[in-house]
Amino acid sequence: MTRRCLAILLQCLHVIALTSAASDGSKWSYTGLEGKYDWPKKHPYCGGVSQSPIDIRNELLQYDPTLRPVEVRGYSNCTEPLTLINNGHSVKMSLPSTMYISSLPHRYSAAQLHLHWGSTDHLGGSEHTINGKQYPAEMHVVHFNSDKYSNLSTAVDKADGLAVLGVFIDVGAFNPVFDHILSHLGSVRYRDQVVQIPAFNIFNLLPERLDEFYRYDGSLTTPPCYPSVLWTVFRNPVRISQEQLLSLQTVLYSTYVNEPISLKMNQNYRHPQEINERHVVVSFRDGVILAITLAAVLGAVLIVALIVFMLIKKRSKKNNQENNKGVIYKPAASKEEDASKV
Ligand SMILES: [Zn+2]
Repeated sequence: MTRRCLAILLQCLHVIALTSAASDGSKWSYTGLEGKYDWPKKHPYCGGVSQSPIDIRNELLQYDPTLRPVEVRGYSNCTEPLTLINNGHSVKMSLPSTMYISSLPHRYSAAQLHLHWGSTDHLGGSEHTINGKQYPAEMHVVHFNSDKYSNLSTAVDKADGLAVLGVFIDVGAFNPVFDHILSHLGSVRYRDQVVQIPAFNIFNLLPERLDEFYRYDGSLTTPPCYPSVLWTVFRNPVRISQEQLLSLQTVLYSTYVNEPISLKMNQNYRHPQEINERHVVVSFRDGVILAITLAAVLGAVLIVALIVFMLIKKRSKKNNQENNKGVIYKPAASKEEDASKV
């Protein structure tokens, strides 16, 4: 086969690959023709039940004293270089499966972590919200059930396949740990660009309190939106500086390096989904218990007020009936007579 024939064959294969990628609906974005509101057209699960993210509201919360604090293993002693990639939707860092969550009924081994954020015009960028509050960004550490499945691809569509740790990111002081990722964004500016970064202590990316979290059954927040995720969203955010957030909002593009029009990668979050019959269990009491107590006290006050009102009304009716018993009705005096007394 000549070199020219081989080139034509490769070209044909490339076109077939692109066509099949488009026809199987793998192409999607947050805005535009394939935007998040149109995901269900090509990805039916995105219009289905148990979707994520959600707005975590007080009335959904159920305190569960049996919830164990999140425990992870292998997060602190990662020694191999890590791969950072711009996948066109987010910046993703591969994680070794020697990292895992040990506090769930199955072992969930790490696969990757990635971020969601807003833009310079729209500060909110987290996917989950707390009583409507959106944080500037959110990190997702994705794990798969390695007791039952051999890798992430096999586990991704199984009901007990994935466990994701969600971490809110707020603005505060410069965060040297997050800079292990953020300082390399310039090397993965365009889609499909990849860079190897030195290993660092991944554990330090997590918030301090691993015992305070919200947990619920949900889904991938991107197509194909499989309802396969046990979500653990930590209550307390981590903080990065305003400059670090700005680099996240401005450095990356969702387009390839040679595309004529470059699109900034920002506002890569999905809006909160219907909660339906779901509940969110929480590992902490304060705040939740206060809200429930307040609601109970208010309810009790309302009921007492209603009972008192009914009793007063009943008594006043009875008094009126008793007073009326001794009254002798006389015909009314004529208007002329009344007028003469004025
Ligand atoms: Zn995510």
